[in-house]
Amino acid sequence: MLRRLNRRPPARGEHVLYWMQASQRAEGNPALEHAVAEANRLEKPLLVCFCLDPRGEGRQARHLGFMLEGLAETGKCLADRGIAFLLRAGPPAEVVAGLADDAALVVADRGYLHGQVEDRTRLADRLAVPLVEVEGEVVVPVETASAKEEWSAATFRRRIARHLEPFPTSPAQRAVRVRSADDENHETLGLDRPADLLRTIGAAEDAGPAAFTGGLAAARRLLDRFLREGLGRYATERNDPNAAVLSCMSPYLHFGQIAPLEVARRVRAVGGASAAAYLEELVVRRELSMNFVRYNPAYASPACLPAWAAKTLAEHAGDPREYEYALVDLEAAQTHDPYWNAAQRELLVTGKMHGYMRMYWGKKVLEWSSTPEEAYHTLLTLNNRYELDGRDPNGYAGVAWCFGKHDRAWKERPVFGKVRYMNARGLRRKFDADRYAARFGEE
Ligand SMILES: Cc1cc2nc3c(=O)[nH]c(=O)nc-3n(C[C@H](O)[C@H](O)[C@H](O)COP(=O)(O)OP(=O)(O)OC[C@H]3O[C@@H](n4cnc5c(N)ncnc54)[C@H](O)[C@@H]3O)c2cc1C
Repeated sequence: MLRRLNRRPPARGEHVLYWMQASQRAEGNPALEHAVAEANRLEKPLLVCFCLDPRGEGRQARHLGFMLEGLAETGKCLADRGIAFLLRAGPPAEVVAGLADDAALVVADRGYLHGQVEDRTRLADRLAVPLVEVEGEVVVPVETASAKEEWSAATFRRRIARHLEPFPTSPAQRAVRVRSADDENHETLGLDRPADLLRTIGAAEDAGPAAFTGGLAAARRLLDRFLREGLGRYATERNDPNAAVLSCMSPYLHFGQIAPLEVARRVRAVGGASAAAYLEELVVRRELSMNFVRYNPAYASPACLPAWAAKTLAEHAGDPREYEYALVDLEAAQTHDPYWNAAQRELLVTGKMHGYMRMYWGKKVLEWSSTPEEAYHTLLTLNNRYELDGRDPNGYAGVAWCFGKHDRAWKERPVFGKVRYMNARGLRRKFDADRYAARFGEE
């Protein structure tokens, strides 16, 4: 899906510029391939630029280190294709506008969160050349799947299914006609000393490095392993945190290091019940999250909740809480509940909590906070600070789900009202919760 973000006339320019932000990869990237096609049409070289934005407040070295590993690989792949890659520090509207002085046109990829949309709007206003946005982080373009906010996975599934037959294809990779000259002196930050870069941009260091290596090659290694060892058991064991059957694609998808279409096509080729269960998560649930942040401007606060959930939570806001924890206690995994503590420790240590535990983790914070508003804030803070895949449409939708979004009303009970409840007994019924707690138990 391609969209013009301004109506400026094309300029003569010396190059075509692709401002990379959401799709941080050199393969399976529709925005990059569009930029290559435009550069070839105009017989000009292509420059790709990425901005390390110091305004990315609250970003941990954990996230940025993973991102820089991916960008180092992307820069090398682009160089092999004859495309210059420039890494600059600064807000995109300023950095890209500066580089665009000599550009014939600028291509951007698409992001859905407020900051990403604002960056594109600001840049579109500032540029004197055309700015074109190409969507690449979904299997089905968001507005094609649905023109409005969807109520639930059930309503969304029906709509998106119409666009999955035939299944979408990946963009063809073209050779560039005019290679960027090696001797051209483009100013760029080096990626060979990531620790120095992290210091320069003032990355916070509350969390240690995550247990994942960034980049497309690492994503493909994990995907290969998942297809060999995990997928066959995914339909039956994905809710068991001891089973190690998840794909671990979420950090790579979050940074655009692997195309969702590549993952979807490889899983789909296997077929069967597990592939269907996986595509339900990767395509239906993930793209429902994009639908949510695209159409619900309040996605980062309880104001996004459906009326029934807001009403029932308000009615129970004054209910006594058996336990109440402040953000610092939760952050340090200091609660009475060994399963919750284990989930929080898994997050602190690895940078990725198991998907099933994320639901329990979120529900308990609602139960143990003095108000739903405080719980909402705590969850987004912890999710965005520690999850490698945090600050993602999936994170905002996941937190909202804990408060009733995309769900239905259940039996009424204290604190939760009619919002779905989860308890430790439910965990023990599903899997060996004590084994999980022991794995991530206190040192
Ligand atoms: C409170 C809470 C917070 C969450 N925060 C995030 C977050 O910050 N970032 C994030 O990417 N996901 C988040 N999720 C959704 C989900 O838990 C993760 O996407 C999943 O655990 C990622 O691990 P995986 O890639 O190994 O998953 P797999 O089970 O292997 O799934 C493959 C892919 O499908 C998608 N997917 C899986 N489950 C979901 C789901 N429930 N909703 C939407 N998409 C899904 C993801 O893109 C995932 O990478 C959250 C869920 C909850 C309940």
